[in-house]
Amino acid sequence: MHEFSICESIFSALEKEYNTLHPRPKVNTVQLVIGEMHQVIEENLRAAWEVVTMDTPFQKSILTITWKPVILFCNDCKKEMPKRGLMFVCAHCSSRNIEIKEGRELYIENMGVDKDE
Ligand SMILES: [Zn+2]
Repeated sequence: MHEFSICESIFSALEKEYNTLHPRPKVNTVQLVIGEMHQVIEENLRAAWEVVTMDTPFQKSILTITWKPVILFCNDCKKEMPKRGLMFVCAHCSSRNIEIKEGRELYIENMGVDKDE
């Protein structure tokens, strides 16, 4: 399950950040930005997050996910378009000379913690 390894890398990045905080607060939410190129299944991601964060300060924290659609760019007609279906083909000129402009994102936007604790 590739969602599990995504959670592990998110967690290890967050943990480093978290360990620099004094005092150490309770983490309530973790905001993620995920491009649809990663083909993450939300349900699997949330389940994996529960497992990965068990017995850590991130236990019971809620993942807030912003999904970024896949945007393609055509090198022939120089147009941008959302990806539709499975094919990497330009919707305007049918060229296959296209590249992925957006949709590869995978990063942590924010970590929501309890204040005054
Ligand atoms: Zn085109």
